[in-house]
Amino acid sequence: MMTEARRGLVLINTGPGKGKTTAAMGTALRAVGNGMRVLMLQFLKGSWHYGELDAVEAFGGNWVMKQMGRGFVKIGGAETDPEDIQMVEAAWQEARQAILSGEWDMVVLDEINYAIGYGMLDPAKVVETLQQRPEMVHVILTGRNAHPSLVEIADTVTEMREVKHAYQKGILAQRGIEY
Ligand code: ATP
Ligand code: MG
Repeated sequence: MMTEARRGLVLINTGPGKGKTTAAMGTALRAVGNGMRVLMLQFLKGSWHYGELDAVEAFGGNWVMKQMGRGFVKIGGAETDPEDIQMVEAAWQEARQAILSGEWDMVVLDEINYAIGYGMLDPAKVVETLQQRPEMVHVILTGRNAHPSLVEIADTVTEMREVKHAYQKGILAQRGIEY
C-alpha cells in the first residue's frame, strides 16, 4: 500500500444503491481503530432508532454519533416545514463548528446530500467550510444526488449502483441490515 504524510480528505458516498451510510460507518470504524476521533452528525434522521447509535457508545468520546433531525421530512418548496429547516440549520452550525475546530479527525455528515437536494441547505456554505477546514480533517458526506459543486472539490467520490434491493420484492426494512 502506498502511504504518505497524513492529510485530510473529502469523501462522498452517493448514488441510488444501498450502502452510503454503512460505508461511512466502516470508514469511521477504521479511523477510530487508528486512534482518531470521529463525529458523525445525521441530517434529517431522528425517528428511527438505529443499532449503530447504541454500538458506538462502546467507543466513548472517540466516536460520537448524533441524530439531528426528526426523520420524516415533507418537501417541495413552500411545503417544507420551517421546523425541519431550522433543524437542518442547527445541524449545519454544529457540523461547521466541528469541522473548523480541529477537535475531530473525521466528521461524517450523514444524509447531508438530501438536505441540500431538498433546498434546505446552501451547498456553497458547505464548499466554503470544507475549503477553510484544518488540513488534517477528513470529512465524509453521504446521500443520493450529491451536488456537483461538492463532487468537484471532493477527493474520493463513490457512486453506489443499485443492482437489486430486497425492498423491490416487498421485503421491508430488516433489523441489523437497515437499522
Ligand atoms: P444504508 O444506511 O443501509 O447504508 P444508504 O445510506 O445507502 O443505506 P439511504 O439513501 O440513506 O441509503 O436510505 C436509507 C434507507 O433506505 C436504508 O434503510 C436503506 O436500506 C434504504 N434504501 C437504500 N437504497 C434503497 C433502494 N434502492 N430501495 C429501497 N430502499 C433503499
Ligand atoms: Mg444513508
